[in-house]
Amino acid sequence: MSTKECVQCLETKDINDFSKKTLLASGLHSRYSRCKECMKQYIPMEKYKGESFIKPSGEQLKMIYADDLFDYDESIVVSLLASSKSGKTTLLYNILSKISKNYDIIIFFSANSKAKIYKNFVDDFKNMIMVQDFDPRIIHALHHINSECGNQFRYFILMDDIINVKYAPVVAELFSTYRNTNFSTLHSVQYAKYMNPNARAQCHLILLGRHNNMNQIEKTVNEYLYGNDKLMKLIPEKYKSKQEKLDWLKLYFQANTDNKNFIAYDVLNNKIYKTKSKVLIS
Ligand SMILES: [Zn+2]
Repeated sequence: MSTKECVQCLETKDINDFSKKTLLASGLHSRYSRCKECMKQYIPMEKYKGESFIKPSGEQLKMIYADDLFDYDESIVVSLLASSKSGKTTLLYNILSKISKNYDIIIFFSANSKAKIYKNFVDDFKNMIMVQDFDPRIIHALHHINSECGNQFRYFILMDDIINVKYAPVVAELFSTYRNTNFSTLHSVQYAKYMNPNARAQCHLILLGRHNNMNQIEKTVNEYLYGNDKLMKLIPEKYKSKQEKLDWLKLYFQANTDNKNFIAYDVLNNKIYKTKSKVLIS
């Protein structure tokens, strides 16, 4: 089986992941062939050769540990958007290490609650309850308890890869009115299309991790990053057109979400950081 590195996503892929046409046009061993996925999001790499996307010229984004992002007293809404193997679970562990003591009950809804890695969570966070899939009755019950006792309890609701709840009424409530009754919510999804539209509008903090392909990167850059003044300032002056700036941002996003790094957009304070986990788990 023959493999080849794609010049755009830099992943080593099976030769079948490259279209015959591209391979022939570029020569089988050419340094400039792209996989089928990247052909859909063609970026003229020659133009950006020699650019450092990790340390571009000019002002840098500040790197801070993920747990330091969570200095909130009030209830918060967090969106996390990242593919599998992005370092997401480790990031969630770091976040919970910081905030778990601030909450009475943490509910962790997971599509995969029996996974080995979650043993760390169950062992270390005694106020956390791991629940397979999503169960709205739990949210209703917690809400009912708080309405009976003047919002005495603080809840943190974590939904990890729960994709069938986008339009669930109770989820819309979590992102809006339930914040006033001591609910904080973190929704983690692999694709933006699974995110409740309210969550996007109401977010205090958006965490963006590695994406598996350029189509996803394109969507995220368009939706969350393009136009952000701090990011736009990082783009070298010589890239003038909107397309050049978008392509630069896509490559920047890709380089800076590799190795379990994330980009964090603190919507509340209009700040943007690079972030990573302090403690690594496996
Ligand atoms: Zn590729």
